Amino acid sequence: MWRTLARNVRPSSLISRPSKITPAITRLSQVTSQRSLNLAPASLIGTFREFSSSKANYAWRNIEAQINGTNQVQVQWDTDVSSSYQNVWLRDHCRCPKCFHPQTLQRLVNTFNIPKDIQSKSVQATEKGLTIVWDNDDHESVYDWDWLKNHSYNPPLKGKVDLTPPKPILWGAEIAKNPPIVQYEEAMNTQAGLAKWLNNIEVYGFSFVDGVPITLEATEQLARRICFIRESHYAAGIWDFTSNLAFADTAYTDLALNAHTDTTYFSDPVGLQMFHKLEFRGTGGESLFVDGFKVAENLKKKHPEAYECLSTLKVPTHSAGDEKVMIVPTPREQSILNHLSDGTLYQVRYNNDDRSTLSNLSPEQVDQFYEALRKWNTELTSSETEYWEALEPGRAIVFDNWRVLHGRASFTGHRRLSGAYLNRDDFLSRARTTRFTHAEKAIIL
Ligand SMILES: [Zn+2]
Repeated sequence: MWRTLARNVRPSSLISRPSKITPAITRLSQVTSQRSLNLAPASLIGTFREFSSSKANYAWRNIEAQINGTNQVQVQWDTDVSSSYQNVWLRDHCRCPKCFHPQTLQRLVNTFNIPKDIQSKSVQATEKGLTIVWDNDDHESVYDWDWLKNHSYNPPLKGKVDLTPPKPILWGAEIAKNPPIVQYEEAMNTQAGLAKWLNNIEVYGFSFVDGVPITLEATEQLARRICFIRESHYAAGIWDFTSNLAFADTAYTDLALNAHTDTTYFSDPVGLQMFHKLEFRGTGGESLFVDGFKVAENLKKKHPEAYECLSTLKVPTHSAGDEKVMIVPTPREQSILNHLSDGTLYQVRYNNDDRSTLSNLSPEQVDQFYEALRKWNTELTSSETEYWEALEPGRAIVFDNWRVLHGRASFTGHRRLSGAYLNRDDFLSRARTTRFTHAEKAIIL
């Protein structure tokens, strides 16, 4: 039952209807960018969303807002599309400056002071947005149209802006021909260079930085340019190591290492890693990188049952070689392939050498697991997926440890590698702020 209290009454003949109604919010979904971030390669440009906070084209005069029943407000966006919002939700999400701090973007509403059966006194579509006066205290709430449409939950609307990162471009061995690279000077000294570097890592899962001074100090400064450094049981900041077994881990030897992700034994595995080889006198020791998302895609296509198995069965892991170290994750067992609720793969957690004793699986699951793992290994070690790179001094790499597996060939001689574990949330935060302004954050969040 509809009860129309207030609506934007304007004879349709008087409305200068735009020839094409393109609300700002709809344009958000288009993947074209007018930002001059000077990104290369050109294929990446499409990963930046256009986002206009200007209401110039927003046909707010065509929007109707109505009280719907006793506890909802309905917004009719156009003839076909409408959204309903419950009163309690609306009052709790009031976007007036008293209820939502415009600078800190934090809530100021006391949720627990909202009457259970809160009613609206009036509902209006205005240029500022949906305006509601509440009956219990005459508080006037205003909701920006962009924000309101973006957060429509009944129904969830298409073209919704969210925090989805740029679409990954999957790669195999062929990436060797044209790997993502930024120059040290541009990455350190220009915003465009930084944006390109961040975007490379989001899209490809890694990026080289060329022309890096071959010192530990310069490598550390480079790391801090994209995020803060994460401490671990190996180091408090940037580390450098040789094959001296300083820590009881095979990384500190000259042995070959199969493709793996690091810190599978952390509850929250390290998000990004940086490597920079500072010294090398010897043979071998090339670095191996593999796009775990590509391997997973190949596995899913060829052996969906194996993919399903590695996505559902959970295995225990640990790090415990050093006397004062015995790290295991919480929960104790973790899947190798981890997905968002919509099915998107977001994390590969795989190091076959850091697996603990398997005693949590049924006999049937043991068979399924080894069968699936063999198929995974076949895809992982295929010459079409393995990317080998000498990583000469002067070329640093940052890679996404939730996506790109790394390894190395065995070597002889002296090799000194520096590196750092980097904080994933901080990296992603800096990447997002190259895409969204403060006003846009308020609309998205
Ligand atoms: Zn308010």
